[in-house]
Amino acid sequence: MKGLTALQLLDVWEQGHAYPISQRSLLLLAAARDDLEMDDLLSMSIGKIDAALMDLRDLTFGPMINCLESCPVCNSLLDLPMRMPDLKANASDISTESFSIISGEYEIDFRLPTGSDLIAISGHNNIEKAKDLVLRRCITQIRRNGLVCSNIRSNDILIPERSREEISKRMREIDPQANIEINLICPSCGSDWQRVFDIATFFCMEIDIWALRTLREVHILASAYGWSEKEIVGMSQWKRQLYMEMVGK
Ligand SMILES: [Zn+2]
Repeated sequence: MKGLTALQLLDVWEQGHAYPISQRSLLLLAAARDDLEMDDLLSMSIGKIDAALMDLRDLTFGPMINCLESCPVCNSLLDLPMRMPDLKANASDISTESFSIISGEYEIDFRLPTGSDLIAISGHNNIEKAKDLVLRRCITQIRRNGLVCSNIRSNDILIPERSREEISKRMREIDPQANIEINLICPSCGSDWQRVFDIATFFCMEIDIWALRTLREVHILASAYGWSEKEIVGMSQWKRQLYMEMVGK
């Protein structure tokens, strides 16, 4: 995989600006990976998608990221420089095969959440309902005391809370890249807490900021020199900055 050029990045940003983050992140990967169709991306586990997004971010904007976080106790602002490769989990090459847990009288077969599950919940604002929907989509069979339960997607089938927690825990173990948590310590008051790092949201927000800055540069340089958007965006960032300085911006 290669990083996206400025022209590709602007194209994908325009294509995806009206879509939720889950769809936008798949569009980014589709633009970067000629070897994958959208159907392939939809069937990849969330951990695999996140790992690919981290690689793409590294190749496009570089390995360093800066996150700002405020301490939940004393409100101090923490500037957190991190390296993208350090956030990658040591996961083996997981497949989309089926897994099983035994939970009390239940035996439950499930698969890992994939890109298609992210798309399915992208319109849901209620997190608990969205989690329930993903879980029901991922469960492929439930046997209670050896008897197969029918219609497992139906809300009428009660999945015990304990079994839900066991499935979620097992999913995190199998696909750790899907749930990256960063341990933080406040240098001012010594409090410690954990923060989930979501590469899809982070990368898409970065691209929003980059795209708006780039369009502003296009506007200024096109007005000053009469060049096309393609000519201006196709320049290196360094050269574009030199011209911006020459027009006094
Ligand atoms: Zn603090």
